[in-house]
Amino acid sequence: MINQRHLDDLFAFLRFASVSTDATYKSQLDLCADWLITKFSNMGLNAELHPTPGHPIVLARTKTDPAKKTVLIYGHYDVQPVDPLNLWTHPPFEPHLENGIITARGSTDNKGQILSHILGVQETLKLTPELPVNLIFLVEGEEEIGSPNLASFIQTHLTELACDVIVISDTGMVAPQHPTFTYGLRGIAALEIFLQGPDKDLHSGIYGGAVANPITVLTRLIASLHDEQGRIAVPGFYSEVRELQSWERDSWKTLPLNDAELLLLTGSPSLTGEAGYSALERCWARPTAELNGISGGYQGEGTKTVLPSKASAKLTFRLVPDQDPETIIERVCTHLKTSCPTSVHMELKLGHSGKPYLVDPNSPYGLAAQRALSCAFPVNAIALIREGGSIPIVATFKELLGVDTLLLGLALPDCRAHSPNENFPLENFAAGILLNQKLLKELAL
Ligand SMILES: [Zn+2]
Repeated sequence: MINQRHLDDLFAFLRFASVSTDATYKSQLDLCADWLITKFSNMGLNAELHPTPGHPIVLARTKTDPAKKTVLIYGHYDVQPVDPLNLWTHPPFEPHLENGIITARGSTDNKGQILSHILGVQETLKLTPELPVNLIFLVEGEEEIGSPNLASFIQTHLTELACDVIVISDTGMVAPQHPTFTYGLRGIAALEIFLQGPDKDLHSGIYGGAVANPITVLTRLIASLHDEQGRIAVPGFYSEVRELQSWERDSWKTLPLNDAELLLLTGSPSLTGEAGYSALERCWARPTAELNGISGGYQGEGTKTVLPSKASAKLTFRLVPDQDPETIIERVCTHLKTSCPTSVHMELKLGHSGKPYLVDPNSPYGLAAQRALSCAFPVNAIALIREGGSIPIVATFKELLGVDTLLLGLALPDCRAHSPNENFPLENFAAGILLNQKLLKELAL
């Protein structure tokens, strides 16, 4: 049963319109950060507001006992914009509770999840004067805009943030009541290709056949990235790919996620991809080369007999352990340069990148997390999954603080994070509070 005071806290937290991307809401972010400072201080934690060039970072900690392990819990108080507002059934910053579901912007991403950890600590501190671990809360206000000030903050506060393990609840569960531990994430590397053929658009009747069409060259180059089996054909692309272990393949087959469901979710006529792998394996543990945008030539109504002078494409590569974004993008560039005919000039522009992430779910901390998850959600076995997306801060934590992150998500597949009618079930909020209490105990062992 949920405690009314916990619900009041959540509703107060949700009422701040802390939209980080829009300067109109700056004061709401400041007020929301202040609210957290008060909350932490009232719990007896030492709370500090750290201004950044953007939105402030909230840091709160217990007293440090060198005999205890130190756990850092990361979360964010900023939210995505609410547009389109007319699709919300209730105003996004007036939390609405109906049939055990809280609807509000930020309810699942990430206020509901981070607050459940905060309240878990509050409850533990009511029962005992001290926590079983030294605890640091790091709650930022810029996650939804790519955490532009977080890495430099960590770098300048390395001693204060030194810890043994990090916990984040900002990922998903495979289904209601199915405790889920995400132990892997894909990395990313972005690239843009620009081709220039003739120095101006030409008449395709007068010159067509004698002068290369950059769109044709571009599409051939893009097609050369894959072979007929759906594998990426760039030499050396798979050299560092860590193969799936048999326990992963076996356990993923038992998850309440299947191809039929994927088809339904995506609305795609059929599934496709690299031969020899299931759809889940392709999404979670195999790399991809994805075309995200393409442009060139005439885009208006009707026909224009043009032989365009330029064509371009935007690509991203999702990477898996142990691929390194820099090495991979170098191999892709070499492949494109050697495949590009002399009839066009090619320019390649590198975009953002992030490393893949993998942690052993059966390490001592991983097992501690699993024990805590099975107390919080006792009905089903724990789903050990990877996710196809990238959470760059996790790699940043590993790089700067040298520690692993346990991703213990509480969001459901239909929580609509980033969408209208974002929601969070009360039972997950309550389970998160319990999870935190068990987790700190288990991590202390
Ligand atoms: Zn988000």
